[in-house]
Amino acid sequence: MIELKHDDPPHKLEQRKNNPNDNGTPENPRKAWSNFYRNNGKQEIHEKLIPLQGDLCVYCENKLDKHGFHIEHILSKTQNPLLTFEYSNLSLSCVSDEKKFKDKEIDDNSISCGHAPLKKTNTYNENLFIKPTEANCNSLFSYEINGKIGSNNNNSEFDKQRVEHTLEVLNLNCYRLIREREEIILQGYEIIKELQGEPELLNHFFELEFEKVNSKYLFPFVNARKEHYSLFKK
Ligand SMILES: [Zn+2]
Repeated sequence: MIELKHDDPPHKLEQRKNNPNDNGTPENPRKAWSNFYRNNGKQEIHEKLIPLQGDLCVYCENKLDKHGFHIEHILSKTQNPLLTFEYSNLSLSCVSDEKKFKDKEIDDNSISCGHAPLKKTNTYNENLFIKPTEANCNSLFSYEINGKIGSNNNNSEFDKQRVEHTLEVLNLNCYRLIREREEIILQGYEIIKELQGEPELLNHFFELEFEKVNSKYLFPFVNARKEHYSLFKK
């Protein structure tokens, strides 16, 4: 999960939030949001959030262009109408178009993140759900070498419950994501093995792995890779 620290809200969003007709708390949040979205409200939000998230999905950390993305309300707008136009409740998450995605994937249980079935239907517990806007949210998760995400060993019983719930709601341990994470973690280990004894090249590898270039991470799953490769960083 990418820890998301919002900066100043985009102009059009702030304007809409302060609309005196409904004071930013629409009666029909879905309809109000889709009107705003269609009237070019999305562009500014994309431009602000892409660099803040380093071009990765806020939940699964895939590259945003891998499956396309949408503007995700971290807490549901239909359950919380006053958060419909609240910048700190917005993030970018895959996928853009579920139908296209389903056609491409053989495994039909692999829709994750903001459009995962439980998240999309708001079948989740807000008190347990871990939000990317929580400080140090990512330290609650542990990235296993087989590609699975688990709970950090130091977590309290309550945090363990929260991790379990969040992983289920976002479907972050679907086969597709496990496979993709495992593949990229192992690839990195291979490279580290090859570069042993070449400290300069190894440092260059870590720079490319962990640092943003033009506000974007070059590779997906940055926190999984950090957890694994940091041990080798001198
Ligand atoms: Zn995602």
